[in-house]
Amino acid sequence: MSGDGKVFGSCCVELKEAMSGDDFEPLITVGEGGILYMSVGLIEMEDEEPGMIDHPVFFCPFCGTKLQTADEVRAKSGAIEDEPTN
Ligand SMILES: [Zn+2]
Repeated sequence: MSGDGKVFGSCCVELKEAMSGDDFEPLITVGEGGILYMSVGLIEMEDEEPGMIDHPVFFCPFCGTKLQTADEVRAKSGAIEDEPTN
């Protein structure tokens, strides 16, 4: 593993513990593309199990360190083409 992947959780112990979650299900996780996501809620879907609503985390919720930028998140999730091209 190499590249420009940042190590989330290196800014403070609180975030590191929130991500590791030995005794609980972490709500802050690194998703595809190395984007740090925080679960902000549950959504009920018809005929399906409740799903988690994830939102990219731009600043550490504990110490305020800038973790990633909107541009970085957009670049990393570039596989998702949600921008109109014409
Ligand atoms: Zn932090």
